[in-house]
Amino acid sequence: MSHKRVLIIGGGAIGLAIGWRLARAGCSVALFDRGRVGCSASWASAGMLSPLSEAQFEEEDLLHLGLKAMEVYPDFVGELEAETGCCVGYRRDGVLLVGITQDDLEYLKFRYRYQRELGLPVTYLSGAEARSKEPHLSAQVSAAVWCPGDHQVDNRRLVMALKRGVEAAGGEIFEDAAVDELLIDGMRVIGVRVGEKVHKGDTVVLASGCWSRLMPGLPDSAKPPVRPVRGQVARLGTTREFALNTIVWYSRVATSTVAYLVPKGDGTLVLGATSEEMGFDEDVTAGGMFELLRAAWEVVPGIYDLRVVESMAGLRPGSRDDAPILGKTPVEGLIMATGHYRKGILLTPLTALTIAEVILEGRTPEIIRPFGIDRFGL
Ligand SMILES: Cc1cc2nc3c(=O)[nH]c(=O)nc-3n(C[C@H](O)[C@H](O)[C@H](O)COP(=O)(O)OP(=O)(O)OC[C@H]3O[C@@H](n4cnc5c(N)ncnc54)[C@H](O)[C@@H]3O)c2cc1C
Repeated sequence: MSHKRVLIIGGGAIGLAIGWRLARAGCSVALFDRGRVGCSASWASAGMLSPLSEAQFEEEDLLHLGLKAMEVYPDFVGELEAETGCCVGYRRDGVLLVGITQDDLEYLKFRYRYQRELGLPVTYLSGAEARSKEPHLSAQVSAAVWCPGDHQVDNRRLVMALKRGVEAAGGEIFEDAAVDELLIDGMRVIGVRVGEKVHKGDTVVLASGCWSRLMPGLPDSAKPPVRPVRGQVARLGTTREFALNTIVWYSRVATSTVAYLVPKGDGTLVLGATSEEMGFDEDVTAGGMFELLRAAWEVVPGIYDLRVVESMAGLRPGSRDDAPILGKTPVEGLIMATGHYRKGILLTPLTALTIAEVILEGRTPEIIRPFGIDRFGL
């Protein structure tokens, strides 16, 4: 049992999951969010756990992190569900990466060859084979890559379960409580200030997503280079006649649009997502929705008649190299857990387990060593 006093700044999936692991290990945990917990990027997310379909050239460390994250997911959500009684909608759907035009197919083949070189279990399918897996695909879809090892979770249920988990394990959650300053003495963290109130702690975890860099009191050597990357999403209501079996993912090469369709257990279909550099602007725009709906409709025309139940935008915390920033910093007691960009829901359990190890045991697990803030040479 640890008796450390740990303060967590930010109650997205990342901060909550770390809080849950530490509280159940006996730490005295206080988590602060400037709004309601779980309502920022973690709420906007599509909840895909898709390291295979998202494998990018030049990102092998990140791919290994993602594959490791997949390994720990089932046990993590199993424990969370058992402790909280909440179901988080973990599903082993698989992802179909699809293409229509010649340039889509060239890109698909190029990615497929790379996935195979990495030894990933993926299969190249003709359009007809793809339609036998997912009958709602358009007749225009001419080929696909099937990634059965990619899964999904209901990210909204996940954050709500994590909130319950923190509280059930004795952690305190303060909402509408923006941390106004990180308090440092010499190069050691001593607490945080929320309004007029000072909260003291041995350890502070910076998990405030795309806002992490803005925290007053952070020295330059510990300012994580993260920025907001806007993602717009829509949720459509499916019907009895129309429900997808798998996640469908379309990279529309002609307009550099990515559209994915993710069927959820509550009967909604998440349509995501734009990727825009618009600072902290969280507007949903006509152009963003247009691009998304057009690309999604091209591959799954049946969405045309579905009801739009929601649209929103979220800000992904993107780092300079699109990889997360995890672990110790030059300030003693200050721990980073930010910059998760497009993979924060996938990386939530692994981040929580590894950051808990850093805090409880004082050692940095091998798997997160490439992701320290020291890689930026600040
Ligand atoms: C449209 C979209 C789709 C996505 N799809 C996927 C997907 O399919 N799979 C996947 O793995 N990832 C996906 N992501 C990425 C994923 O959602 C993020 O990486 C993840 O949610 C980041 O979690 P977080 O806890 O770091 O940040 P957030 O969820 O943004 O939480 C940060 C929290 O910090 C709080 N905060 C900020 N400043 C302060 C302060 N001063 N004091 C106190 N609190 C503060 C905020 O209020 C907020 O609640 C998607 C993201 C978007 C936007």
